[in-house]
Amino acid sequence: MPLKNNTLPLSGLRALVTSGPTHEPLDPVRFLGNRSSGRQGHAVARALAQAGAAVTLVSGPVSIAAPEGVSVVRVVTARQMLAACRAALPVEIAVCAAAVADWRPLHASRKKLKKKGAAPVIALTENPDILRTLSRSRTARPALVVGFAAETENLAENARAKRLAKGCDWMIANDVSGGAGFDAEENRVLFITRAGAEEWPLLPKAEVADRLVSHVIKHFKEKR
Ligand code: C5P
Repeated sequence: MPLKNNTLPLSGLRALVTSGPTHEPLDPVRFLGNRSSGRQGHAVARALAQAGAAVTLVSGPVSIAAPEGVSVVRVVTARQMLAACRAALPVEIAVCAAAVADWRPLHASRKKLKKKGAAPVIALTENPDILRTLSRSRTARPALVVGFAAETENLAENARAKRLAKGCDWMIANDVSGGAGFDAEENRVLFITRAGAEEWPLLPKAEVADRLVSHVIKHFKEKR
């Protein structure tokens, strides 16, 4: 249990961070997922905790260690992630860095699918959008909601539109064309708020997290 330090800039504030991929089962041994490592979300959780926030990190399946001083909830699927996020509310700050699978197989077989005859045709259904759900919550909307947008084209335009569509306050957009950002150590991002967009240089993910947390600190300082 970390010592409470009331002199830190985010002391007294609660934060929820989603991180990593989700895995959507097809059968007991196969899943639909993506290449997210969880590094960016975990770095944000660490930076928020270091700034004094009480952090709940809801993490999909990752192979990296959880940062110290945060309370970790491990989940596998998008629906589990949403339920864990709901259980963590209320919070003042929510950062959705998880690469949630947009779809899941409509039916997950309880037995391993056998390779016989024609290849199976897998029907998919849409997963809940956690960022959108938190941003648009009537009863428990966090005061500050931040999303991430991985895009392969028209980065600024798509990310701006996504910020509005999801209803979050800030969007951190990164260009993943050519594999940058995903499963990498560094990230080059655009920081998008209602006021405009700021281009950050290529930075280690820990520094992207630190910069984001500096903005969070400034935001709450102005509000207090
Ligand atoms: O729509 P898209 O997946 O590009 O949006 C990315 C942002 O939305 C990220 O912040 C991600 O964590 C969040 N998201 C979510 N739940 C989903 C899909 C995306 O929270 N089902």
